[in-house]
Amino acid sequence: MENTVKKQIVVIGAGITGLVAAYRLLRSGFSVVLLESTLQLGGMAASFHLGDQPLEYLYHHIFTSDRYLIDLAEELGIDHELAWYSSREALYINERLYPFVTPLDLVRFREIPFSQRIRTGLTVLHAAGLTEWKAFESCTAAEWLSRQGGRQAYEKIWQPLLFAKFEDDAEKVSAVWIWNKFKLRGHSREKTGGRSKLGYMAGGFGTLVTKLADRILAMGGRIYLGHTATDILHTPDEDRRFTVSCILGNCHMVQFNADGVIATIAGRQFANITGNLKLSKAYAQQVFDLRYKGNLCVVLRLKKSLSPYYWTTVCDRLPFVVVVEHTNLTGPERYGGHVVYLSRYLDAASPLWTEPDGEIFRLFTQALSRIFPDFTPDDVLDWRLRRTRYAQPVIGREYSKHMPAMDTTIPFLKLAGMAQIYPEDRGMNYAVRLGQQAAEAMKRDCMAEGNP
Ligand SMILES: Cc1cc2nc3c(=O)[nH]c(=O)nc-3n(C[C@H](O)[C@H](O)[C@H](O)COP(=O)(O)OP(=O)(O)OC[C@H]3O[C@@H](n4cnc5c(N)ncnc54)[C@H](O)[C@@H]3O)c2cc1C
Repeated sequence: MENTVKKQIVVIGAGITGLVAAYRLLRSGFSVVLLESTLQLGGMAASFHLGDQPLEYLYHHIFTSDRYLIDLAEELGIDHELAWYSSREALYINERLYPFVTPLDLVRFREIPFSQRIRTGLTVLHAAGLTEWKAFESCTAAEWLSRQGGRQAYEKIWQPLLFAKFEDDAEKVSAVWIWNKFKLRGHSREKTGGRSKLGYMAGGFGTLVTKLADRILAMGGRIYLGHTATDILHTPDEDRRFTVSCILGNCHMVQFNADGVIATIAGRQFANITGNLKLSKAYAQQVFDLRYKGNLCVVLRLKKSLSPYYWTTVCDRLPFVVVVEHTNLTGPERYGGHVVYLSRYLDAASPLWTEPDGEIFRLFTQALSRIFPDFTPDDVLDWRLRRTRYAQPVIGREYSKHMPAMDTTIPFLKLAGMAQIYPEDRGMNYAVRLGQQAAEAMKRDCMAEGNP
């Protein structure tokens, strides 16, 4: 009798990782409950409607080497929705905009001495071809980049870039992190001309999110939006091993019993809901020590285009660190205007984090007109701001020694958050892989118990 009852797995978080984990578990014959605290699927890849067109709150593209995501799109029959575009990039530095579209642009980049331009180009090329990341683990990106490309190149180009993502932690970030960025971009360049090739889905990546959710529901999975998991209790003597408590928007509590739990959330969020479990002290500490930067992202719909570039990195100290003109990748036709994202990573303790939306919009648009003097606030048709508390894990030196394993110290309890993507960095492609790995890890525990 017992073997005919499907094992029930509660998956916490309906971002890409949670959706993929739920989909894979259902395909392997589990019963699945998927809990999501917000009222939307997709997590950081969630979308809203701009007119009748879905668009991500946060800019998203993929690289040609993003095999896990591309293979999943094929499996789900939506690979034909993926289109590949040539991307144009630029650097804003010392109040000037420099194109960085082909390798020749680096040669022409007069902000650093010629020899350091060549060394910088060689560093990027060389890093893209390296496969052995362990050699970089004990080194910070700052040390490695200044050694390879020269101090001025580091201070002018790389330091502002690291600061842009990690602020005060910039100098602590591991060389493995920056090496991965070079590798991804290197692999996603066209064979001729050296321009980046980036992928985007018709209907945005919401197409992938919706397809996964449809498949989950079609296989009998249950998805609960507006359900925030607040506590996991271990109940080994009951019918099922765990009880997961949830709070709903109207403050009601509900509970779900589970044979296994996969949490696809940030370390602190996991620590908050597992306080009543007997995780080993060492494991709980590793989880608690995970650090993340938050992100503020303003998306604007504009009457006119700002520049020919898709991606402009801002090296000068402005309130945002990147300008992404999405419609320079995909074309503006479907959005009724030009879509531009302005993004800033920061600590949640930073005063800017708690500024009102209108003030952040004002600061960001004011700075935008310094880069693009033709831009005025009158060009804005509409806008919105997204705050993401756990947006980017801080990856320090020797990270492999500090990263918590997906297998927690309690069987059938898995942690699969984006801080466990290493040596690569977070991204939808690796979220797909993480979701698959989490489902596999759960299956392994069942096999070990002699109950596939
Ligand atoms: C500004 C920005 C730009 C990005 N651009 C790109 C890009 O161009 N290309 C790319 O591939 N990737 C990009 N990413 C990264 C990508 O979005 C993420 O790697 C991916 O979406 C992470 O998915 P996830 O499921 O692991 O996490 P999340 O998307 O964070 O999902 C976790 C989910 O768990 C939910 N949750 C949290 N706590 C609870 C709880 N207690 N109970 C229930 N639910 C809970 C959250 O609401 C959330 O929906 C970008 C990220 C940012 C911040």
